[in-house]
Amino acid sequence: MSPPALRLGHLYPGEMNIYADRGNIAVLERRLAWRGLALEVTPLGVGDPVEPGAHDLYYLGGGQDRDQAVVAEDLARTKADGLRAAVAGGAAALCVCGGFQLAGHGYTGADGSRMPGVGILDLDTVAGPTRLIGDLAIEAELDGERRLVAGFENHAGRTRLGPGCRPLGRVLDGHGNNGEDGGEGGVAGRVIGTYLHGPLLPRNPWLADTLIRWALAHRLGEPPELAPLDDSLEDAARAVAAARAAARGRRPAPRGRAPRA
Ligand code: GLN
Repeated sequence: MSPPALRLGHLYPGEMNIYADRGNIAVLERRLAWRGLALEVTPLGVGDPVEPGAHDLYYLGGGQDRDQAVVAEDLARTKADGLRAAVAGGAAALCVCGGFQLAGHGYTGADGSRMPGVGILDLDTVAGPTRLIGDLAIEAELDGERRLVAGFENHAGRTRLGPGCRPLGRVLDGHGNNGEDGGEGGVAGRVIGTYLHGPLLPRNPWLADTLIRWALAHRLGEPPELAPLDDSLEDAARAVAAARAAARGRRPAPRGRAPRA
């Protein structure tokens, strides 16, 4: 009998999909397939409820402020309770950029409007007067292992973590959560949020496999052994991104226009 498929709930594939969001899901699918495992993807769009226990992993990608406003309203109305129960039950989640902001308590956008978040990560975000853009390299820590993770960031939001959440990693080069405290992303239980995108999982297979391991533990009830893969191409791609980030160095948040009143 073939092993059961891993069940991914893809939140708002139509609205929250800038940069490499679909590519990240393709990586999860391929890395499972190379190990003889299947990924079953369920799109969860506007109006669709989240049924706790129905998925092992959730993915919420990036979006611009106007897409986030639509999604924030629908999340609060149809999905927030289900998502909170799902992750409390051990489901994993990866929330990227705009998705990271909405995984927190809320996001105050560039026009000052407040969007509610789901509250699966203890953090809050307020848009600043400048955008934090560029290659980003961090030293991430998950399950007691530390690894270099590299990608690209492009956000106006400044995110501050509360005591219920720790950073995914510390910024080596780039801005990170707010360009001030040296932290990047947020982790609580099996939920990961990050500003790293474009393309995050294709060049950071350790992160992809950590999520796969967590989601399979939810699916099977015990942590699985994952066969190692040849990641030389992925490692080379990550080295290019990390070198680009290093060429620009650690960057504080730029001072721009006067902050909004
Ligand atoms: N709208 C958010 C910001 O600019 C997120 C952007 C994104 O997802 N790339 O902070």
